[in-house]
Amino acid sequence: MAEGAVVQSMIMQVAQQANAALSITGKVSSDAISGIITACRIPKSFAMTFDDGPGKLFDQVVDRLDELGVKATFFVNGNNVGNLDNAADANKIRRAYQSGHQIASHTFSHADLDQLDAAGIRSEMDKLDQQLLRIIGRRPVYMRPPFGNANSATQRTLQKLGYRIVNWNLDTLDWKHPRNAKESLKAYRRALNQAANSGSATFISLQHDIQPATANQLIGRAVRLVRRYGYRLMRVDECLGDQSGAYRQ
Ligand SMILES: [Zn+2]
Repeated sequence: MAEGAVVQSMIMQVAQQANAALSITGKVSSDAISGIITACRIPKSFAMTFDDGPGKLFDQVVDRLDELGVKATFFVNGNNVGNLDNAADANKIRRAYQSGHQIASHTFSHADLDQLDAAGIRSEMDKLDQQLLRIIGRRPVYMRPPFGNANSATQRTLQKLGYRIVNWNLDTLDWKHPRNAKESLKAYRRALNQAANSGSATFISLQHDIQPATANQLIGRAVRLVRRYGYRLMRVDECLGDQSGAYRQ
């Protein structure tokens, strides 16, 4: 669950260089979306993402987002804190999907994909996709590699399989502060302040729906803050202007 800070900063650098080569405009064709995505494309867009669920607090997170009128993206696992073969956990995913949230892949078992060969990666992706097909009738296009780990071989394999890889450019590190949202909120404030000084940033923020402070305290405060800075909250596929959508056709 804890995402490795060093690896992460390396990934960010590579990803930011890749993103810099792409034009920041409105709608984009899906084949222009490649490499590791860490930011949005639509000006002043902000995508909140929640990893590792569905856990016990998943419904609560969805309720809170729905009350606030926010559509978010959930990078879910098939067998991690929850198990999508259980009806109760499957129902959580179905409900979030029906509420208009984006369901994306975080692999079946939260495996470090860089430790697997191509067949192993495929199996991790397929197992979760099969569960999601049963639950919502859709297969996600978007995925986030556990721990943010996707070396060039992993990226090639995932892209061959038709996935778009999404990391983040705002890390709340909420897993370090499971009972208090203060530090997570500080991460939001810091990033938004920096962006206000530099101009046209967009954000993909990382938090975990399994963390109590995130579920109970952070969401409302973060949403208010993001809106106060003039951003529009939306799903990852929307913030990228991806006309082909979040799921396979
Ligand atoms: Zn994770």
